[in-house]
Amino acid sequence: MKIIKAELEKVAVDQRQYPEDGRPEIALAGRSNVGKSSLINTLVNRKSLARISSTPGKTRTINFYNINDAFYFVDLPGYGYAKVSKEEKAKWGKMIEDYLNNRQQLRLVVLLVDSRHNPTDDDKLMLQYIRSSNKKVIVVMTKTDKLTRNELNKNINMIKKELQLSSEDTLLQFSSLKKIGREELLNKIEQYI
Ligand code: GDP
Repeated sequence: MKIIKAELEKVAVDQRQYPEDGRPEIALAGRSNVGKSSLINTLVNRKSLARISSTPGKTRTINFYNINDAFYFVDLPGYGYAKVSKEEKAKWGKMIEDYLNNRQQLRLVVLLVDSRHNPTDDDKLMLQYIRSSNKKVIVVMTKTDKLTRNELNKNINMIKKELQLSSEDTLLQFSSLKKIGREELLNKIEQYI
């Protein structure tokens, strides 16, 4: 897939602000600092379309990026940031749940996990949310440039086990720094549009 247009079209805090043109949507989810903004920028070949967060957890909105006037990348708010109140966390949870449960045009959720670490409880909860809302999901391991080949292989197995992925599930590797996995992820996404 060639991306010739990528523009931030809507910034939403509730459902009334979502786009209304019915185009397919590919959502991206992950804990804050997982590398989601970097991944979006890498996919669309832009330096700073999505914000790279110096203060993690700052993005409390659902951002809709118009891609090629054909579909949307939907940047869901990063979760798992420690320094926010319970109230704030509940608000995020509800925002994400509302989106996942009610969005007909949502075709695929790309769930990002850090390739270096065990998936967090929030990662597992997120995957559960996605599955229980009957949406398709693929898991992407980010920042793989930080690992050796051996470490990466070990962590692939660990992540598969922790997230209880089956042979039918897709687990991809990605590095925004080294631009690894871009084509593969775009090809995968294209199958769902
Ligand atoms: P977000 O909070 O999930 O949107 O994460 P960001 O994209 O803002 O990235 C968080 C931090 O991780 C930043 O300092 C990035 O420079 C860094 N980062 C993101 N992707 C990669 C990657 O592929 N490799 C490396 N080494 N660092 C990355």
